[in-house]
Amino acid sequence: MAVCAKCEDPLVLVVDYDVEDDEPPETEEVPDDLELPCGCHFHCSLPPPPPPLSRQCLIDDAAQVALSLKCPKCQSYLPANQAGPSATNPIFGPSTTAAGASAIRTRYSSEGGVDDDYDILPVLTEEAYLASHPEARPARALLTMCAQGDVMGIVGLLQDMDGEDEDGDGDDEARSPPLPVNKLLRYQDPLGGMRSGLHVAVENNQEEAFFMLLFLASRLATSDFPAAVVESAQQVGLGRPEQGSDPDIRTLADDKGDGPEAYARKAGGKWAQWAEAGVFTQGL
Ligand SMILES: [Zn+2]
Ligand SMILES: [Zn+2]
Repeated sequence: MAVCAKCEDPLVLVVDYDVEDDEPPETEEVPDDLELPCGCHFHCSLPPPPPPLSRQCLIDDAAQVALSLKCPKCQSYLPANQAGPSATNPIFGPSTTAAGASAIRTRYSSEGGVDDDYDILPVLTEEAYLASHPEARPARALLTMCAQGDVMGIVGLLQDMDGEDEDGDGDDEARSPPLPVNKLLRYQDPLGGMRSGLHVAVENNQEEAFFMLLFLASRLATSDFPAAVVESAQQVGLGRPEQGSDPDIRTLADDKGDGPEAYARKAGGKWAQWAEAGVFTQGL
């Protein structure tokens, strides 16, 4: 049986099952085997979020792999097409969102089954970015939650951020300072065409996340929100922002100059109706 090219352990992951406190933990081994095009195998522990016992043997080398596009073990060149690194990597070269985007096609066996055509490059690119910009991790998590409409996740994230500098135990000092909440809410994705969370919410038809971002980062009058939105925001203890110097989230444009309103008009349906009704412009 093949072993991991990095740690040389079998390509399995030990997962814990919840049991009663006074019993020994129950564990089970599940496959965790990412095979690169060169034939080398690595632990990978995807999709995120990884379990606590994950082994990210390939992800640990993400920055190096994303830069060189070579296998960290055998140095084979990995992308499916023949474009060179400078043409394929969005951190170090032009964006991959253009035609001719590259991919690293792998075979990934995990608890969920076998994926014969799993493109690992976006994950490596993301991890490489986070390795050099650790302060962006919560902001990138926020974007994922906006895309999935995970409103409770967003609330939890914001509450965690708020509590972070109040605990005073000094644990955080070694890390880069996290983005303040006002900046976090307005984060624009350098790997995703500079979309904000509001762009992402519109694009993924996530109405609750959309109104939550407006509630927290726009000057749209509270009376213009659906009553249910205001009610649920109050229930979780979220208030409207102070009228500071932060830009209204509705004014943030992607790298093509399109604001969330342009996305809404393109999406049509209720989004276009809201655009007509001035949801994207009132109070600006
Ligand atoms: Zn390993
Ligand atoms: Zn290899």
